[in-house]
Amino acid sequence: MRYISTRGGIAPVAFMEAVLMGLSTDGGLLLPESMPRADNGMVADWRDRVAANRLSYQELAFDILSLFISDIPAQDLKSLIDRSYSTFAHSEITPVIHKDGVYILELFHGPTLAFKDVALQFLGNVFAYILGKSGGCMNILGATSGDTGSAAIYGVRGKERINIFILHPHKRVSPVQELQMTTVLDANVFNLALRGTFDDGQAIVKKIFNDIPFKTKHHLGAINSINWARILAQVVYYVYAWLKVTNRGPGLQVDFSVPTGNFGDIFAGYIAKRLLAGQRIRRLILATNENDLLTRFVLHGDYSMSTVVPTTSPSMDIQVASNFERYLYYLNGEDPEKTRRQIEDFIKTGRLAFTETLLKEVRDDFASKSVSQRQTNDTIKSLHAATGYVLDPHTAVGVNAAFALQDDAVPVICLATAHPAKFGDAVEAAIGKPPELPASIRDLATKKSRCEIIEADAKRVKDFIAAHAIQS
Ligand SMILES: *Cc1c(COP(=O)(O)O)cnc(C)c1O
Repeated sequence: MRYISTRGGIAPVAFMEAVLMGLSTDGGLLLPESMPRADNGMVADWRDRVAANRLSYQELAFDILSLFISDIPAQDLKSLIDRSYSTFAHSEITPVIHKDGVYILELFHGPTLAFKDVALQFLGNVFAYILGKSGGCMNILGATSGDTGSAAIYGVRGKERINIFILHPHKRVSPVQELQMTTVLDANVFNLALRGTFDDGQAIVKKIFNDIPFKTKHHLGAINSINWARILAQVVYYVYAWLKVTNRGPGLQVDFSVPTGNFGDIFAGYIAKRLLAGQRIRRLILATNENDLLTRFVLHGDYSMSTVVPTTSPSMDIQVASNFERYLYYLNGEDPEKTRRQIEDFIKTGRLAFTETLLKEVRDDFASKSVSQRQTNDTIKSLHAATGYVLDPHTAVGVNAAFALQDDAVPVICLATAHPAKFGDAVEAAIGKPPELPASIRDLATKKSRCEIIEADAKRVKDFIAAHAIQS
């Protein structure tokens, strides 16, 4: 399998090169040259093995990833997958449970208790594998508002040939988020607390990546949500959950409800839908909080920017979804020219409009709802009252949309993207008591931590990187 750009400006590349590239050099996003399908024999085999309780998450991951990766030998890919999921606290990796009429796919059993671990544990191992082969090294640089930083750090901690530099706004991330990052004491991990905001951090990272000589000299790498390996790793749990639920349930079809920010997770669902030849995943429910750009797109064909409102589900407080261009490419009938023009238009005007014909196609794949703060709160409260199960606010947005949009025809599987203990204040406001803390969070406060407090200034950050970068 080779990878192409949504904007058509590169010669096709193999998987490992696509992973190193991250963003395509023409500014587009990478996608498989052709869309693989799980054939009937493969699906029948999975079904038999699930029915006999003999299909592990890792085995399914290997079968699926093999359809997309042809430049890593099978044994190596197997061990990459095994290593990536050995850090999860649940033997099923992403178990599905059933509560009050909805299925909940728990994606938060990784080391930082959010679904980003599923992708970043894999990406970290893939980076280390590629660098081991090439003999190169990489200095990863990223800015975080809280969640991605810790998942990225846990993805590469202790790995040879990789150093990681994560910028977070000093005292503007939650205490748990801060400690999840700063208590990782591996020598290759550098936390920089900026005296400034998240936007300052992002601007500094952008500036440094635009300094091409600096970037080249220090082999800077990114770990953001547009990396194809992240999307790919997320395809697996959709298929896993579909197999588990339809094994027990009546019909063969399911819907998924996905709390959405950057459109990465739900785009993985779209790939899974096409992998399973369309009819097995009926539709994807795109759940947004009050930052509803994507909901306006699905409901009205109106893809237009407005300002970001802060909510209790901060990882979804996003206006422009960085992975949307991937879906746009398919919606455009895989036309890179048209996609490039639309993105240029969007950058100029801040909006895109879609015709009814295209919207019909969108609505074959997606339903959508924007969920208010109050509704999010009520959903946490009512599910807790009915079942004792505690949702985090991101998951609650998805569960609310699922209840609103479900019909009797097929079961809905709601993606649980974070453990409630990560967002304890919002949960306590909803149910009147703090969520139970898992051991990994309980112990944080007593651990040693390491962090560099630094002015929000690109020059200072560059000096720090130059002094601590790994060299080949
Ligand atoms: C990142 C994140 C999301 C949004 O996922 P996207 O892939 O950006 O759409 C939802 N919930 C949580 C907890 C997250 O960390």
